[in-house]
Amino acid sequence: MTTTRFAPSPTGYIHVGNLRTALMNYLIARKAGGTFILRIDDTDPERSKEEYVDAIKQDLEWLGLHWDRIERQSERLDRYAAAADKLREIGRFYEAFETPTELDLKRKKQLNMGKPPVYDRAALNLSDAEKEALRAERGNGVWRFKLDHERIEWKDGILGDVSIDAASVSDPVLIRGDGQVLYTLASVVDDTEMGVTDVVRGADHVTNTATQIQIIKALGGNVPNFAHHSLLTGPQGEALSKRLGTLSLRDLREQGVQPMALLSLMARLGSSDPVELRTDMAELIEGFDVTRFGAAPTKFDVQDLFPLTARYLQTLPLEEVADAVAEAGVPAELAEPFWNMARENITTLNDLKGWWELCRDGAEPLIDDEDREFVAQAMELLPDGPFDGETWGKWTAAVKEATGRKGKGLFMPLRKALTGMERGPEMAALLPLLQVIRARK
Ligand code: GLU
Repeated sequence: MTTTRFAPSPTGYIHVGNLRTALMNYLIARKAGGTFILRIDDTDPERSKEEYVDAIKQDLEWLGLHWDRIERQSERLDRYAAAADKLREIGRFYEAFETPTELDLKRKKQLNMGKPPVYDRAALNLSDAEKEALRAERGNGVWRFKLDHERIEWKDGILGDVSIDAASVSDPVLIRGDGQVLYTLASVVDDTEMGVTDVVRGADHVTNTATQIQIIKALGGNVPNFAHHSLLTGPQGEALSKRLGTLSLRDLREQGVQPMALLSLMARLGSSDPVELRTDMAELIEGFDVTRFGAAPTKFDVQDLFPLTARYLQTLPLEEVADAVAEAGVPAELAEPFWNMARENITTLNDLKGWWELCRDGAEPLIDDEDREFVAQAMELLPDGPFDGETWGKWTAAVKEATGRKGKGLFMPLRKALTGMERGPEMAALLPLLQVIRARK
C-alpha cells in the first residue's frame, strides 16, 4: 500500500518550501488511497522544541492536510540503536575520531590539490589500541557508514535517472560522539519499518538519498520510490532561503492567504500543468501528478497567492465566512447583504473590516467643487427607508429627473460623496448598508 510521510524537524515554523514537500507527499498518499504519516524528526534534543511540534500540527490542520498517523523519532531511539548494532555486525560501521578542525584541514588540503573533499577513511586503519587511546583522549568517536564504492542509481520520480558515484561522497556520520543518532540513519530505519513506499523531498537531499539507498540495502529494507522537487526561488530567481523566515505559513495566514489558494498554487507551481484554482481537496488530489514536475528551480512569488485568494473567496457562501464577517463587526442581521456586497471587493478576509467601517461610520466625502450643489440636491432626494436593493436605482432615477444629469456625471459624484472613493462595490448593494445614511433619514 502506498505510504508517504512528511518529516519536518521541529526547529522552526513550516514555510512555503516545506509546504511543497508536505503537500506532494499528502497528495500522493491520498490519490492512491494510501497512508500519510506525519513524522516528527526530533532526534536533536537541543534544537527540537515542543512549541514547533504544536505549530506544525496547527499549520497542517489549517491547510486541511490531515495525517493518518503521527510518529516521533525521539520515541524510537531503541530502533536506531538496533540498526546501528546491525551495521556494526556486518562491518559497515566504523568509529572515527577526527575533530572538526582536523576534518576541515583535510578538506582544505584536498581542495588545494584539486580533489573532491571526501573523507579519507583514515579511521579504518586505526588499531584497537589506537582507538582506545583516542577514546581516552577525546571521548567517543563518531560512527560512519562505510559506503560501497560503486555507482548508486535510481529512477527519480522528478529528476529521472540519477547516478552518483559513491566514491565522491564522504562516508556519512550516523551517530555523533555524544551518542545522538543523526537524521540519515533515523530516517532510513523509519522509512523501512513504517513501510514508506514513496518519498518526495527537496533536491537538497539528493546526496542523502544516495547514501540512504546503500544504508537501506545494508539493513535489508526495501528502497522506496524517490522524487526530489526543485528548490523554490524568489520571483527573479534569487535564493529564497533567507526570506523563508517571512514566508512561514503563519505569516501567510495572518496576511489573509486562504489555504485553498496556497494549495492550488503549490500543487502546480513548477509543473507542466497550469496553476488552477481548486476549491476543494478532492479536485486537488485528482489533478495531481508528481511526474509533471521539472528539475529547474521553481520561481515563487508570494503576490500570486492574493488573486487566487480573492477568487476563492468569491466562491464562498456566507456560512463559510460567517465567523470572519462577525469578527469584522458586522451585526448578524446584516451579514448576508454585507457579504454579498463585499465578496467581490476583497482580496482577503482581512479587508472585511475596512468595508464594514465604511458602512458603519461612512467616509470622508469626496466632493468636487462643481458637484457641490448637485450632491446637496441629490441628498435631499434620498428616499425614506428602509433601504433595499432597489433604493439606489429609484434614487438615481429621481436625481436624474430633477437635475438632468446622467451616466458617469450622475453616478460618480454620488459614489465619491458616499464612499470617499472613485471605485468600489456596486452602489445598489452598498447603499442599504450605509448606516450613517440610513440614520440620517
Ligand atoms: N527532517 C528532514 C528535513 O526536514 C526530513 C527529510 C526527509 O524527508 O527525509 O529535511
